Amino acid sequence: MIVILGTGGTIAGTAKTASDGVGYTAAQLRVEDLLAAVPALAGHKLEAQQVAQLDSKDMDFATWQRLAVAVQQQLDRPEVSGVVITHGTDTLEETAYFLHRVLAPAKPVVLTAAMRPATALAPDGPQNLFDAVQVAGTPGARGVVVAFAGRVHDAVQVRKTHSYRVDTFESVDGAVVARVEEGSVRTVGRWPAGEALGLAHIAAPTDRWPRVEIVMNHAGANGAVVRALRASGIDGLVAAGTGNGTLSVALDTALREAEAGGVRVVRSTRCDAGPVMDLPGLLPSAGALSPVKARIELILALLAEA
Ligand code: ASP
Repeated sequence: MIVILGTGGTIAGTAKTASDGVGYTAAQLRVEDLLAAVPALAGHKLEAQQVAQLDSKDMDFATWQRLAVAVQQQLDRPEVSGVVITHGTDTLEETAYFLHRVLAPAKPVVLTAAMRPATALAPDGPQNLFDAVQVAGTPGARGVVVAFAGRVHDAVQVRKTHSYRVDTFESVDGAVVARVEEGSVRTVGRWPAGEALGLAHIAAPTDRWPRVEIVMNHAGANGAVVRALRASGIDGLVAAGTGNGTLSVALDTALREAEAGGVRVVRSTRCDAGPVMDLPGLLPSAGALSPVKARIELILALLAEA
């Protein structure tokens, strides 16, 4: 049995006309409707549950908490071999990373999405959903992955790389986990493993979760944003530095002041891929995590200390 959890997104979006690929409204169709659009899934043992219904640009901590609990409940059922989550593409990599760190499941948890609404002339959602179900039912598959446009990405590496192109997700730092060809899953990399933080780690009411913001280095970065954020009350800051996490002198100064004032600071990079290498005397590196994933990591770290 595979359980499909719906959260909204463009995959569940509708437009007034079939030729409209951008002026649509996300999160309109229920997960049962998405399944009904894929007759090839008729023979599969599936169950569907609507966990949320939102445009993933509006993803929030409360939905993450609810989703993590819902996924774990399904994984705990012996008859469930895998879970599929339909999601928007905008924050899909964040949800995937969050679930990976919190649940690190031994069964496959497969996120999928679409770049075109369900009403498009050639929607990509039905194929992606079909592929995601195949991945969730593949013996040996495990961990939180993203099945999209014929490729399976792990939660750590996956990033949305294009604002419009249908094949938007990439594993930015190495090989993909698998490819899906005509419904058959060909493993070419490694299925994710890891240690679960567990649901207890994220059990605090979400209005008490740490506030972590992202600031970017750029020409003329003067640290004023950091000071304004500190004045508004923050717990952590991720600096999306240039190159190897480099920061202007003024931004570095403001971030060090913040750190000295008790704000946790890590350095990531605004580059599309690659790690930030630690150097003595510099603010701590976020490793190979993108700024949005470094933010999640910092939130989870601060939750442990709360
Ligand atoms: N804004 C949409 C969402 O993330 C975009 C998409 O799904 O492609 O829900």
